[in-house]
Amino acid sequence: MGDLLLRGGLTDGRRRDVAIRDGRIHRLGAELDPTGYETLDVADKLVVPGFVESHIHPDKAFIADRTDGLSAGGPTAQTLVAELKKAFTVDDIYRRARRVMELAVRHGCTTMRAHVEVDAYVELRGVEALRRLQAEWAGVLDLRLIAFAQEGIFHDGVTQGLLREALKTGLDVLGGCPYMDREQRRHIDWFFDTAEGFGVRLDFHADSSDDPSMLTSDYIAEQTIARRMQGRVTVGHLSTLDVLEPDHRARVIDKLREAGLHVISLPATELHVKARGDARRTWRGVTRIGALRAAGVNVSLSTNNIVNPFTPYGHPDLLRQALVAAMAAHLGNLDQMAWLLDLITTNPARAIGLEGHGLAEGCRADLVVLDARDPAQAITEQAEKLYVIKGGRIVAQNTRTSTMTTPR
Ligand SMILES: [Zn+2]
Repeated sequence: MGDLLLRGGLTDGRRRDVAIRDGRIHRLGAELDPTGYETLDVADKLVVPGFVESHIHPDKAFIADRTDGLSAGGPTAQTLVAELKKAFTVDDIYRRARRVMELAVRHGCTTMRAHVEVDAYVELRGVEALRRLQAEWAGVLDLRLIAFAQEGIFHDGVTQGLLREALKTGLDVLGGCPYMDREQRRHIDWFFDTAEGFGVRLDFHADSSDDPSMLTSDYIAEQTIARRMQGRVTVGHLSTLDVLEPDHRARVIDKLREAGLHVISLPATELHVKARGDARRTWRGVTRIGALRAAGVNVSLSTNNIVNPFTPYGHPDLLRQALVAAMAAHLGNLDQMAWLLDLITTNPARAIGLEGHGLAEGCRADLVVLDARDPAQAITEQAEKLYVIKGGRIVAQNTRTSTMTTPR
């Protein structure tokens, strides 16, 4: 691998060169000596850390054409996908998940933590397909896998055993979904017990409802503290936070911060799925991203679903999620857009325990060069990702051209 020098890019608002050696950022500074480097001219282009998908479902991507999708009074997305899942084969999952990974790399993703469904319908076929991709794509896209209980764990006699088996094959995160079981706290307890037993991190799909009595993130926070797992637990959705009374919400957010929970917002899915049964208004269901961040909680954005009943227009492009969040969560002022890119780069890296991810000497050279001068322009114009660099190697190069006539 030749060493690479990114010439004249904009990092943290300053024009600096990035010298990459042995896959890592060796030096950052103005006018570095190019001797011995292959140089890449990125003058006045924004250079940011690689995008990190912290919550995504490649195993059930690209199945929107196998079903009618959501309708008022119709089945939920969970029900539609559960039925389709029975027919998934390893090769079918492999092909669809591979397409997700190709698109993610094309759009700047350098690390992905994916949910793999493990249950009576699909058994361990998703694990087999995703493990194969994990090995094949090493060095292009780092893939981390969560053994995920989308269907709950108390409806049949096999799911708990299958989840344990998935962890034994090497998956290093356990994923729960409390709202899929009637006894949410018992579900959460089982996941903490099992994660403790295997010494793995935990992730929950939590608080998807607009019913405050269904809230679980406060209990997840309590358990995280009681079991000394601070910093090792992530929670996705947290839509319920949006419907709590302000005082109650502030207390819950305090508890989340105390427990070191990492929150992952999934705005595209919330906008498609939420309040389907409410004839009076269209609840958007996106969590309180700004309030969580202001309180010191580590918040990220992720894509979640791709071309399926949960999000038929889902696309693994995190720059798009930044725009969706800006629109859906009142985060469109220039100072807010300036930090939104953190929610798709360094924040999710922290959430999944990815070390050495950032723009500093010594960090892994996982980088994206955007055709923009600053984050607000990148988000607003959905700027092209000119170069995607993984471990110092260019893994995607994109161009966008247009021909037009303008008045003199
Ligand atoms: Zn999800």
